[in-house]
Amino acid sequence: MEDEKGKQGSDGGIYKANERREEMEMEEESFASDFYRCGSDWSCLREEEVGTKRFKKNDEPFKLKQTNLFQIWGLNKPPSSSSPQEQQLRLRSASTRKSEAAKYDGKRGADATGFGVSLSRPPPTSSPNCPFYKKIPGTPFTVDAFRHGAIPGCSSYFLTHFHSDHYAGLTKGWTHGPIYCTPLTARLLQVCLNLSPLFIHPLEMNTGHIVHGIGVTLLEANHCPGAAMIHFRLQNGQCYLHTGDFRASKSMQAYPLLANGRVNMLYLDTTYCNPKYKLSKPRLSNQFLGNRRLFPCKEEVVSYVVRVTKDHLKKQPKTLVVVGAYSIGKECVYLAISKALRVKIFANASRRRVLQSFEWPALSEGLCSNGKDTPLHILPISSLHFENLKRYLKNYLDLYTSVLAFRPTGWTFSQTSGNSLELVKPTSRGNITIYGVPYSEHSSFTELQEFVKFLRSDKIIPTVNVGSAAIRDKMQSYFREWMKSV
Ligand SMILES: [Zn+2]
Repeated sequence: MEDEKGKQGSDGGIYKANERREEMEMEEESFASDFYRCGSDWSCLREEEVGTKRFKKNDEPFKLKQTNLFQIWGLNKPPSSSSPQEQQLRLRSASTRKSEAAKYDGKRGADATGFGVSLSRPPPTSSPNCPFYKKIPGTPFTVDAFRHGAIPGCSSYFLTHFHSDHYAGLTKGWTHGPIYCTPLTARLLQVCLNLSPLFIHPLEMNTGHIVHGIGVTLLEANHCPGAAMIHFRLQNGQCYLHTGDFRASKSMQAYPLLANGRVNMLYLDTTYCNPKYKLSKPRLSNQFLGNRRLFPCKEEVVSYVVRVTKDHLKKQPKTLVVVGAYSIGKECVYLAISKALRVKIFANASRRRVLQSFEWPALSEGLCSNGKDTPLHILPISSLHFENLKRYLKNYLDLYTSVLAFRPTGWTFSQTSGNSLELVKPTSRGNITIYGVPYSEHSSFTELQEFVKFLRSDKIIPTVNVGSAAIRDKMQSYFREWMKSV
């Protein structure tokens, strides 16, 4: 706003100042409209319990929290009296004015963009339409918001991990601003996307960094290699945690920033925020699961896969073991087999290049470039079908007579009763056997519940499955239920 006066020396200047104010209102309104279009209450209200003394980690008494995120973001709620048609019209005229405003060569004032910060650089020329939950209020930051191009008001783009649904929009030609991520993700950006190192800013994990005056710490997310949760400490003392994609675990409760400090707002990976994805208790047989999914912990799945492999090899020693994998993720499954059988891992050249960029010695040393040198092969998970595997085996008929394949998925249906992994039934056709194993890199419903109850943040903003109002309401009801019992 400090440049406003200087521009008012002529009629044109006043006109531009008014235009800019309108633009600010329009942007704020657009952000507000976006927020309200996505549901009226995304916050998780923790009510004060009258007559009871309850204290949080830092000995502060519980208070009644605001229900409206706008209050803490300093934005005005759009007028509620207008009809949906009027709102549509306003939105349409806002977008027209936005494209006109893009031509305007001037600076933007405070809060013009929904970030709640002053900016002093020319507005980018694209029209990104970035949803509010990818913006970090009170900062010029966005998280995993590359598909929206240059985002007005965003001066730093954070990437939680290298999965395509999160980095979508990032290409070799990216010039919209610096990208902050873990060192491993930074290497992947260069190896896989050929991004200019000028735009990549790796931040060491578990280390406090200052970016634009904001404290930033990346924490292990227990998702894929290089995946991080991002902890932001604002200058006003507010702390936000963005989980990115994560699988909540007990070990996270020992992270000093989470154990000792308050998290005011939690951006939560709600991929499996549904009671049908409750965590399966290991080896409890004869327990009816209904339509529940089998969702064991990762360690249990890994030891199960190793056990199945060893048993299979005892019966059929000339077996080629194949593990399906995405670009990155689920490496622990084949690393465990490699270690247990003391064999190398074969992957094609492009996958080897990616895996080597992790700079994990055990993995790099375990890789081999000739498929005939090891009975353990990694293939794209989408290629694990009978016909493909039968064709693949033909390349190695001099060495192997059958294939045992594992397809690690997020979860697996438990057919009838019991929730032990032993009930996972493989599918077999001739000499090809395929196991679908529930190896999830996202939190189960139970793990989400434990994490939310541990963190006791003031607000929760779901970041996955937010397209339906019914699902959003349901998720908020779970959050409230969990917080009641804290
Ligand atoms: Zn992911």
